[in-house]
Amino acid sequence: ARTLRIGLIPGDGIGKEVIPAGRRILEALPASLKLKFEFVDLKAGFETFEQTGAALPDKTVEILKNECDGALFGAVSSPSKAVKGYSSPIVALRKRLDLYANVRPVKSVMTAKNPIDMVIVRENTEDLYVKEERTYEAADGSKIAEAIKRISEKASFRIATMAGEIALRRQKIRESGAPSIHKSPMVTITHKSNVLSQTDGLFRATAREALAASKFSSVGVEEQIVDSMVYKLFRQPETYDVIVAPNLYGDILSDGAAALVGSLGLVPSANVGEGFAIGEPCHGSAPDIMGKNIANPIATLRSVALMLEFLNEETAAAKIYAAVDGNLEAGKLLSPDLGGTATTTEVVEDILRRL
Ligand code: NAD
Ligand code: MN
Repeated sequence: ARTLRIGLIPGDGIGKEVIPAGRRILEALPASLKLKFEFVDLKAGFETFEQTGAALPDKTVEILKNECDGALFGAVSSPSKAVKGYSSPIVALRKRLDLYANVRPVKSVMTAKNPIDMVIVRENTEDLYVKEERTYEAADGSKIAEAIKRISEKASFRIATMAGEIALRRQKIRESGAPSIHKSPMVTITHKSNVLSQTDGLFRATAREALAASKFSSVGVEEQIVDSMVYKLFRQPETYDVIVAPNLYGDILSDGAAALVGSLGLVPSANVGEGFAIGEPCHGSAPDIMGKNIANPIATLRSVALMLEFLNEETAAAKIYAAVDGNLEAGKLLSPDLGGTATTTEVVEDILRRL
């Protein structure tokens, strides 16, 4: 039996309602998987900031680093006006744990009229997000602002390698019988190297090189310019399997793609580094529905499965995905964001029964 130690960081708002659902599904996994879980409750978020003066207490980072195999992160509220000393704990966490990839699967039910099943793999450490900006004055006294876009061979190579590995793993899950619209693995490299020949040119060439490795011989590789990609993503989303992109394009594409499946309450993500993964639903703290027990728990349950994939527990992950799909396809116990009347608890219990 393997024991996994999981840090639980509910954060603010509905994070406190959906993260307990994540814990429940881990505890309900069948004993035949020979998996045990230990949980550590950890703090982060705006409420934590108000109580302790730190949005991400050092203790949370230390425990994750030294004691945990993975973690689940709910959501945090950001104040509408800048508050002195406050900055996003998830951004800090990605940095301090070197979680260099943000992985976002976007999937509809197979019974949808035009089913889609893709995953966007976004580089998470560089590009325009190195935040090296400056503002200066032009000769006529008007302002000019500029920012550095940094692309490195190293970061591009490791993100493309991860995309290739995800493509292979998805193929393996399909071969184990999970229904899918894709027949063979494919990675699409996203860039704008027709204009940015050095930065995006380096990303494109390095990603090509990484995906040319013999272990990826069964993975198809194509590339697309980011703007025409957005067009195709909206017109023919079913054609995409795995998309790999530098930070900024990945950020935009992954939010855009999430819109294709209807509710934020369905879309999971994972922040992934070397041997560590944090599952995180894509939605925020949803103050408009907090405390009502109506938040959709599915984004979190899928994030749990995604975390398990990166901890090499594909069988357990596949069971959770299938139980969630079963609930959605049956369509009887759906939360209000999907047009239903079920509570968070009722949705979770239906999914646990299907497990
Ligand atoms: P949001 O994602 O919290 O909510 C947007 C809308 O979607 C709301 O109407 C909400 O009720 C609904 N929604 C979100 N999750 C849902 C779920 N699981 N089930 C049902 N409905 C759901 O985004 P927002 O309203 O723009 O932001 C609210 C707060 O969350 C802000 O403080 C913002 O800064 C923060 N935020 C945090 C994250 C994060 O932690 N990663 C992401 C986005 C926003
Ligand atoms: Mn974003």
